[in-house]
Amino acid sequence: MNFDRIKLNRRDLLKASGAALVAAGTAGTTACSDNVKPQSPGIIGKDGKRVLPWSNWSGNQHCQPTQRLVPKNEDELITAIKSAQQPIRCVGSGHSFSALVPTGHTLLSLARLRGVDNTDLNAMEADVWAGTRLSQLGKKLWAADMSVINMSDIDTQAFGGALATSTHGTGKTLGTLSTQVKSLRIANAGGDIIECSADNNADLFHAARNNLGALGVVTKARIRTEKAYYLKEHSWMMSEEEGLERAEELRDAHRHYEMYALPHGDYMLGISIDKIAQEDIPSVPPVESGDAYEAFRTLANLIDYLPFLRSWLVNFGAGGVEPETRYGPSHEIFGNLRDIRFNEMEYTVPAEVGPQCLREILQTIKKENIPVVFPIEARYIKGDDVWLSPFYQRDGFSISCHNFHDKDYKKYFAAIEPIFWKYDGRPHWGKIHTLDAKEFAARYERFDDFRRVRAEMDPHGLFLNDHLRKVLGIV
Ligand SMILES: Cc1cc2nc3c(=O)[nH]c(=O)nc-3n(C[C@H](O)[C@H](O)[C@H](O)COP(=O)(O)OP(=O)(O)OC[C@H]3O[C@@H](n4cnc5c(N)ncnc54)[C@H](O)[C@@H]3O)c2cc1C
Repeated sequence: MNFDRIKLNRRDLLKASGAALVAAGTAGTTACSDNVKPQSPGIIGKDGKRVLPWSNWSGNQHCQPTQRLVPKNEDELITAIKSAQQPIRCVGSGHSFSALVPTGHTLLSLARLRGVDNTDLNAMEADVWAGTRLSQLGKKLWAADMSVINMSDIDTQAFGGALATSTHGTGKTLGTLSTQVKSLRIANAGGDIIECSADNNADLFHAARNNLGALGVVTKARIRTEKAYYLKEHSWMMSEEEGLERAEELRDAHRHYEMYALPHGDYMLGISIDKIAQEDIPSVPPVESGDAYEAFRTLANLIDYLPFLRSWLVNFGAGGVEPETRYGPSHEIFGNLRDIRFNEMEYTVPAEVGPQCLREILQTIKKENIPVVFPIEARYIKGDDVWLSPFYQRDGFSISCHNFHDKDYKKYFAAIEPIFWKYDGRPHWGKIHTLDAKEFAARYERFDDFRRVRAEMDPHGLFLNDHLRKVLGIV
């Protein structure tokens, strides 16, 4: 979700809010005293050292591991796996909303196995260590005159974490990050590092490119890249009806195209991104990043206080959004800084029914008067051959519904999820959903093949947690 691109006219909004805003904004704030001594968090591990609790980015998932490991290299990783006395869960940067990571045992991070090696401009390929943040990947490739083919709208994920859930950006002809992987190295529960690609251990390769951290620990991948390129991003507000009507036309006209629908409003933000030659970039001052989050938060607070004005306020805010264009190196345009905490449900439906599904969601929010103002993001992504990818053998339209981290998301998502099912939707593995193994088996032709490969890689369930047992149907 890219809030920075949705610029509300904050000054007007604040003016309009008046005294009501103060009341709404201060309600529920907790008194704070500097005399209160915080309790030391965590527990004391077997080695006598404190082990801190873990929480994900939005704070909806947490756990207290008994051990945290951050191996320095593959040898240390192998030793840790071979000597493991208890289950291990891998963590990337904790940006998943589903319970993929939580464990009461060992939490293992590859944060020290990071970097990009063997950049090859002839083959347009590079090796990426799994602990590399996507932001670092973008910068390192740029230094080698390369760019990623496509990316998500933030760049703080670890490469291994993003790979595990088929993290994606947008683009009719462009697949997920997993589809950019040519080969990878993965450590199994026996501590063996296995290499795989489409021609070598092909089943493992098809399973490992969306592995949920259930097959072992991915240490490194060889990825396909492109020659370094610049991007031009243009965003503009249009009517909701125009946005839905023109979705396919705009998708076909741009390398990347996405939409942000405004619940309870009559508007939709369109964002197109295309390659541009460096010499064609106008010398305009960089776009000010603005304070869209604060403006949206203000709007949400105000609507809580004046719910009968919800539609009017949303349309009023949307009316203040000016068209905007920005330019930059590919990784700078793809990856946005995000400190707007929210929870999220995302499903991918077949591309051809995407706008229809989005329309039904927006109508349901209005009809049921669901108290949400957070924009809904919609993106087109190319189909692929990764066994558990939401885009497996079909081009997809992903619809992402959010709510602020401190607002109730459960009722909202419960009202929306059945609409996704009606359109044959498949959930993003890293986002909130309520499906279990039976339902995944019905959605994924190769589900049992994935389970078979998992059992071969990890026969005794070293890498499992409760959530994986539920979604993979392992007793
Ligand atoms: C603000 C925000 C924006 C987002 N934007 C997008 C987006 O644009 N597109 C999109 O598709 N998703 C998006 N996501 C979701 C996110 O990309 C995925 O949930 C991703 O998996 C998170 O990566 P991570 O590094 O934080 O991994 P974590 O959440 O820490 O872990 C995810 C999974 O990866 C496994 N894992 C991590 N490292 C390894 C490894 N080395 N080997 C094996 N398994 C491993 C973990 O065990 C776990 O199962 C967004 C999330 C947030 C919070």
